[in-house]
Amino acid sequence: MKNSTVIIGAGISGLLVARELVARGARVLVLEKSRGVGGRMSTKRVGSAVFDQGAQFFSVRDEHLEARIACWERNGIVERWPGDNPTDEARWVARPSMTGLAKALAKNLPIKLKSQVQAVRWHEAGAWEVDVAGGELVRADRLVLSSPVPQSLTLLDAGGVKLPPEVRSSLDRVSYHPCLALLATLDGPSNVPAGGVKINEGRLRWVADNVRKGIAQNVPAAVTFHLSREYSEEHYGDSEEALFAQLADELRPWIGDAAIVAGKLHRWRFSEPKTGHGQRCVWLPDQRIGFCGDAFGGPRVEGAAISGLALAREIIEDLEPA
Ligand SMILES: Cc1cc2nc3c(=O)[nH]c(=O)nc-3n(C[C@H](O)[C@H](O)[C@H](O)COP(=O)(O)OP(=O)(O)OC[C@H]3O[C@@H](n4cnc5c(N)ncnc54)[C@H](O)[C@@H]3O)c2cc1C
Repeated sequence: MKNSTVIIGAGISGLLVARELVARGARVLVLEKSRGVGGRMSTKRVGSAVFDQGAQFFSVRDEHLEARIACWERNGIVERWPGDNPTDEARWVARPSMTGLAKALAKNLPIKLKSQVQAVRWHEAGAWEVDVAGGELVRADRLVLSSPVPQSLTLLDAGGVKLPPEVRSSLDRVSYHPCLALLATLDGPSNVPAGGVKINEGRLRWVADNVRKGIAQNVPAAVTFHLSREYSEEHYGDSEEALFAQLADELRPWIGDAAIVAGKLHRWRFSEPKTGHGQRCVWLPDQRIGFCGDAFGGPRVEGAAISGLALAREIIEDLEPA
């Protein structure tokens, strides 16, 4: 029990907290509700095609992270985005797909997948108690919540956990944009350039061909379309069929003469922060509870990573000698 930490969520922020703590000799357990690690950096298989369905690439401006990127690049975990790059800033992709970075970070960490946390509560024995779907109970000295903030707050509410009012209201203010992602396997090559395209107006926001990105093989084209923030908000509940039909005219220039042979919709309820928190992380040493993720360190992969590292530093300062 001594120096044990349970971390909810195996996205990049939670995994970095876990790695840093383990490097200091602390005991961790990561609980992840999905079948794989990576969270919003996830990769999806649809038939024989593979799609990056969330984050498409990431950039790094923080000098501390630059050193990590250099190491990840040396180890073949990340590489520069293939194809044309319209900006000067390096765009990094993980290999073999975006989930590859999370998988590398997760190596040798104690992680329980398919473990959906339903409630967290402070136990009178002086430890955090975590209810996992299926009836498992996990106890630890410290609790880290790296899930999107509204999801984390739901877990606290389910266990009757009270935070200091000013902390609670700062967390209540955090909000996210949704994003609808349409994944389309084509029977011929797409018209999407190798470097993907950011679209600044209309109902689409982003398009990339995962074959040209070097992720998907065995199919002529596997295209990820992200819909605009406004359209995703308004049409969040629309069916897959309805969305493909409504957007047929917008998809057509990218699909060209090919036909869609398989389509899939993924709904991201919490895609990127709309209202962020303003601090890099939240750590309450008296309650031994912390929060991290992109809502804290700044939107996007880099911000989530910065937040995880910041929270790990705070916790490490409080670790009891082993
Ligand atoms: C469509 C889309 C496009 C994006 N494009 C880019 C991009 O191009 N570049 C970029 O830098 N960023 C992009 N982002 C943002 C980037 O993906 C995120 O900022 C980053 O991955 C967030 O990491 P995180 O660790 O904060 O959270 P997450 O990755 O969300 O990790 C949280 C984890 O907690 C788990 N979890 C939640 N609730 C529970 C529970 N009750 N029990 C157990 N586990 C739970 C989730 O399954 C998840 O794995 C994009 C995001 C989306 C959705």
